[in-house]
Amino acid sequence: MRERINIRGVAFDSVTFDEAVTRLTDALVTGTQTALYTPNSEIVQACVEDPALCEIINSAELITPDGIGVVKAGRILGTPFPGGRVAGFDLGRALLSKIGAMQKPDGSPYRVYFLGGKPGVAEAARDAILAEFPDVTFAGTGDGYFKKEGEETAAVIETVNASGADVLFVCLGAPTQEKWIYHNRAAMPGVTLFLGLGGSLDGYAGIVKRAPKIFIKLGLEWFYRLCKEPWRIKRMSKLPVFYFGTWKYKLTRKKNAE
Ligand code: UDP
Repeated sequence: MRERINIRGVAFDSVTFDEAVTRLTDALVTGTQTALYTPNSEIVQACVEDPALCEIINSAELITPDGIGVVKAGRILGTPFPGGRVAGFDLGRALLSKIGAMQKPDGSPYRVYFLGGKPGVAEAARDAILAEFPDVTFAGTGDGYFKKEGEETAAVIETVNASGADVLFVCLGAPTQEKWIYHNRAAMPGVTLFLGLGGSLDGYAGIVKRAPKIFIKLGLEWFYRLCKEPWRIKRMSKLPVFYFGTWKYKLTRKKNAE
């Protein structure tokens, strides 16, 4: 049974980081098609405003909190996350660190496909991952600048299917990647894991540097990112809306219960 933590309508899984990694490797071994989404508070706020998006996010088999805002909301609402933040970037990397040692029943390797980022990024990410984990088997790579429906999407699907990918990293930014996976996963029956991991390929490729550990520890990664990428200010303006909205939600809920 999946234990869930409901944050403003988004049904997160109540898992630690290690449990989330095990869910992914178990799904791979059993061949259970699984989508992983890792919403941050911007996406949860977008779900509050758009029930159709909320349904898409909740359709995933594994949903973990990526961002201190969602973790704080868990505490505010009295349903804390057991392992705090479970970031997509780290989950993807942990899976890649294990997958080389795993084999299918017929002895063949599980194959990884990196989809997303500007032209060249997926290849640079693959090379960086292979330098660290040389036993990972890649099925292919592709940039994320194609039309997210129609012929261009059909061509991407055909390429992924022909590649024999078992694990598809879909790094198109949120919520584009979640919508793309939701609408197209059935057309890729050979893919077991769909990982919606935002800017992770930029991170693996070393194009975008992760915040220093001290920022992550203090819950200030968002601030570091804002300083590095100031154009995020518009998106980040959703953060206070989410934070105060969560308090309002909690107080209204309490009042209604009295
Ligand atoms: N991207 C893409 N296709 C698009 C739009 C964006 O592949 O049509 C990529 C972009 O190059 C970047 C990632 O998606 O690598 C989005 O990164 P961001 O850090 O903004 O992710 P988010 O915070 O949205 O999850």
